[in-house]
Amino acid sequence: MEEKLPVFLINGEREGPTVLVLGGIHGCEYTSIDAALELARELKPSEINGKLAVIPIANPAAFYSRSIYVHPEDQKNLNRMFPGKIDGTVSERLAYSLNKTAIQAADYLIDLHGGDMIEALVPFTIFQVTNDKVLTEQSKKLASLLGIEYVVGSTGQVGGSTYSSAAEQGKVAIIAEAGQQGILDHGKSKLLQDGVKNAFRSIGMMNGDVLVSQSKQLRTFNWSFADYSGLWYPTVEIGQKVKQGDLIGKITNEFGDTVKEYHAGAGGIILFLVTALAINKNDPLLAIGNE
Ligand SMILES: [Zn+2]
Repeated sequence: MEEKLPVFLINGEREGPTVLVLGGIHGCEYTSIDAALELARELKPSEINGKLAVIPIANPAAFYSRSIYVHPEDQKNLNRMFPGKIDGTVSERLAYSLNKTAIQAADYLIDLHGGDMIEALVPFTIFQVTNDKVLTEQSKKLASLLGIEYVVGSTGQVGGSTYSSAAEQGKVAIIAEAGQQGILDHGKSKLLQDGVKNAFRSIGMMNGDVLVSQSKQLRTFNWSFADYSGLWYPTVEIGQKVKQGDLIGKITNEFGDTVKEYHAGAGGIILFLVTALAINKNDPLLAIGNE
């Protein structure tokens, strides 16, 4: 299968860092795709120091098939495949190609995401906590400059993702998440665009003052996954604060009988939540950002 990805390359008029912005690693996260595309169309070489590459639709087959989480051909989540395999399945090869041609060439990676077609989400940014303290601090700083309230340090819960793989390769790398449920939210798109431009100013890619806003640091993620297929009834909302052990939802069978109740694995903030009634075994249910 041949895949063609749209790529914007903006060569700045002055020297500076090399930065990669990705959108659409997940094909239905429309707000973040729009944000990447609008940024690429707006920025002029005269505004840029260094080299900027923007790939707004990094997973076109998932985009056009409106496929939740996965590539339609191999049913794999591209954001678990990095750094990819040259002779692997289509998602593994796509990850390999993105890593080889785009991530390896960059000093910085900003990967834009949001809630998928069936997810509600409060905006947050993620960086990888690695053994390299200097790199971790740089990524944390970048993540905290997007003007997004919650910043989460991931400690390896989701292997093979863009930012964790890039961090392992010595890149300053973050994910920013905004928007939800298959809706193009122009306000949240603007939030991402403004945040990315602020991040660009902080690393010298653009000139101007860096805005510092208050962000809340969350230590790590606590994910819950479905143990059964059935009907999912969450009892919490995004942004809600929970204590460890609080009821967060239940799965019932097709007759409405409760099969399993779910309780918060840790105290913290509900960052995203699957809002589809239909749930499949092993699907994510929600994630808590631990305080
Ligand atoms: Zn995503």
